[in-house]
Amino acid sequence: MKRIGHWINGSTVDSGASELRVFDPATGSQQAVVVAAGPDEVRAAVAAARDAFPGWRAASLSRRAEVMFRFRELVDANRKEIAALISAEHGKTTADALGELARGIENIEFAAGAPALLKGGFTEQASSGVDVYSIRQPLGVVAGITPFNFPAMVPMWMFCTALVAGNTFVLKPSEKDPSPSLLMADLLRQAGAPPGVFNVVQGDAVAVDALLTDPDVRAVSFVGSTPVARSVYEKGIRAGKRVQALGGAKNHMVVLPDADIGAAADAAVSAGYGSAGERCMAVSVIVAVGAVADPLVEAMAARLADIRVGPASDPDAEMGPLITREHRDRVASYLSREGGSVVVDGRSAPAASGPGFFLGPSLVDNVATDSGFYTDEIFGPVLSVVRVDTYDEAVALVNRNEYGNGAAIFTRDGGAARQFQYDVVCGMVGINVPIPVPVAYYSFGGWKASLFGDLHMYGPDGLAFYTRGKVVTARWPDPATSTVDLGFPKVR
Ligand code: NAD
Repeated sequence: MKRIGHWINGSTVDSGASELRVFDPATGSQQAVVVAAGPDEVRAAVAAARDAFPGWRAASLSRRAEVMFRFRELVDANRKEIAALISAEHGKTTADALGELARGIENIEFAAGAPALLKGGFTEQASSGVDVYSIRQPLGVVAGITPFNFPAMVPMWMFCTALVAGNTFVLKPSEKDPSPSLLMADLLRQAGAPPGVFNVVQGDAVAVDALLTDPDVRAVSFVGSTPVARSVYEKGIRAGKRVQALGGAKNHMVVLPDADIGAAADAAVSAGYGSAGERCMAVSVIVAVGAVADPLVEAMAARLADIRVGPASDPDAEMGPLITREHRDRVASYLSREGGSVVVDGRSAPAASGPGFFLGPSLVDNVATDSGFYTDEIFGPVLSVVRVDTYDEAVALVNRNEYGNGAAIFTRDGGAARQFQYDVVCGMVGINVPIPVPVAYYSFGGWKASLFGDLHMYGPDGLAFYTRGKVVTARWPDPATSTVDLGFPKVR
């Protein structure tokens, strides 16, 4: 059986506190064992990162950017291999895995160009003969804890920006799809990152707790479910660390009566069922306003009949399996619950009866907003339709929801769209765009229970998160003019 270990100080390490099973979601069988780090492995990784920090910080900014340029070329050259690893352990289709990588590569490109954004400010003659300038310095060892659903892209959201800013990094990827992180570690090595600059510890909550309590870890970036995000945030803050913890979501897509039904149905189906609904930016609630509901539900149901569910090895498959059997069963269990009328039941899809963790696309209409269909992050291919009468009701619904990751509006009315952008209480908004994941030179982050912390991830916020500001006030006086003055320094 294949064994998957850690990457510490530039080489693989195979010891651990326990061993966890890695499945092939498409067949339902175990394909590997991943060793789960205990406190010793985490300590070794953090110590390697701590020892590598002075040298990496001292490397010139252009040298660090050059590593990112090289890493980008290596990831590009190895796209197929990385995508194959993603599909093998996560289950997503090859096209989806390549799409994940393409969005990850944007983050490498942003990091390669980041020196321009790390420039400080300079004020000449702030006082007589006095100049003031600001610089940003790295924090030291920073840790990233990532979810199963984007095993390459989400780590890249974090480590590209952190490394170019001069930090060293310890990644704790999801134990469910641990292999892409090791390939990325090796590509970073080939790109010129010295040993210890980037480390990977595999494992579960034990490894996370060790990272959160290690005094050498200065900051923690987390992406995952809301309960764990909240707990990581609270523990990290208590331990004196800087923390950004991105949580779960319930993303609404509001469809106004003037929207093009065909385009809205295409977008809803693409965003609801892509990656089997296991995306934090997946649309999981359609808010149908007024008379749009009947034709929209009909158009969506018609499209579901054509979705091909299957393994990544099937080049025509559009939707893969869910991540584990337990998760598939949990998602499927909603379809037996009260609170909505099931229009399309994914349990009857042919793939759902095989050994893999498949479930067909499911559509539930007339969902009650106090039912689990609406209140829970189902994180699977189950799309709910809530019917409302007016735009105001739609916005009030979105804004009452505990999550605030993304929200989209579909309309041909520019004024309504602009009003929505103004009104809606969430971090990322789509106007006729169902999955509004910002490009890498903006930043990604939700509001409310979708993010704990202040700064969003990657882009300018990422650079701010991974650096701290210092302001220098400098004078080069003529000794002949020097006097003693006990007054408070004045600028005028
Ligand atoms: P998860 O919360 O179960 O796991 C995330 C990470 O935390 C993993 O590395 C896991 O090993 C670790 N972990 C799990 N339980 C822990 C515990 N009790 N203590 C400490 N660490 C723990 O999430 P997941 O199932 O891997 O991913 C799906 C979730 O991630 C969904 O809720 C999804 O919305 C969310 N997500 C959010 C974003 C975002 O940007 N907001 C992006 C991707 C995924």
